[in-house]
Amino acid sequence: MGLFSGMGKFGLKDIDEKDIFAEKEEKKAEEQNNKKKEVLESDFLIDRTYVCPVCDESFKSKTVKSRSVRLLGSDVDLRPKYQQLDCLKYDVVVCPSCGYASLARTFKNIYDSQKKLVSENISQGFRYNEPEGIYTYDEAIERYQIAFANAMAIRQIDSEKAYLCLRMGWTIRGKRESLNQKDPHYQEDVKACIDDENEALKIALDGFLAARTKESAPYAGMDQSTLDYLIAVLSAKFGKIDVAAKLLSSLISSMTINPRIKERARDVKDMIMSGEKIL
Ligand SMILES: [Zn+2]
Repeated sequence: MGLFSGMGKFGLKDIDEKDIFAEKEEKKAEEQNNKKKEVLESDFLIDRTYVCPVCDESFKSKTVKSRSVRLLGSDVDLRPKYQQLDCLKYDVVVCPSCGYASLARTFKNIYDSQKKLVSENISQGFRYNEPEGIYTYDEAIERYQIAFANAMAIRQIDSEKAYLCLRMGWTIRGKRESLNQKDPHYQEDVKACIDDENEALKIALDGFLAARTKESAPYAGMDQSTLDYLIAVLSAKFGKIDVAAKLLSSLISSMTINPRIKERARDVKDMIMSGEKIL
């Protein structure tokens, strides 16, 4: 007879000694798993040296070894998904000395007049320590926020601001998908992520619409049909079905666009027709 048998007289279930520390074992397994994931993610990163175009300091920033990761596919709004890690977390480069930050793609592209704006509006009082090890989603999202503050400060063009917000929205979606369902705050955290993602995607949509009237292709590296496709998807998501339908019809009937975008446009049109939720 065990210490905790005969609990039935209290109307309780017997406690099996094997179960007492089972939860601990489970937790241990989960911790080990997380460690493994961390090792895996760091295997695909390298420290790349940058020279800041604003303050001339050199610093290191984590970059994905792009040739070593495999693209699994993409969401309806073209968010890329990779097998080994979420590459979007490592998209932003932040100079720890002066606070200048942008997507790695545009880091060097800054005019002298804009450098002055960084010094005046960002650098004073800027404090930031590059996170040790791999970035958590929250650390990655902070880096997007710093980049967006810079984009505002240097009066970046609408397409670039919109594209930055789109990628920030995608990163927040990655965070939501990574949340642990067993966490007691799971539902609240999911809701907060959805709200933040929607805010970012709405800014992206407004920016792309503005860019379409004021700029010409390429828009943040995208051609006209990719931009129109994105505007259509985001418009459909936010209930502007008429805008979406018009753009999708013109993409589908175009003879000159990339066949992949055309195919995707057909799929989204079908989703709208069948009342399926877009994102
Ligand atoms: Zn700098």
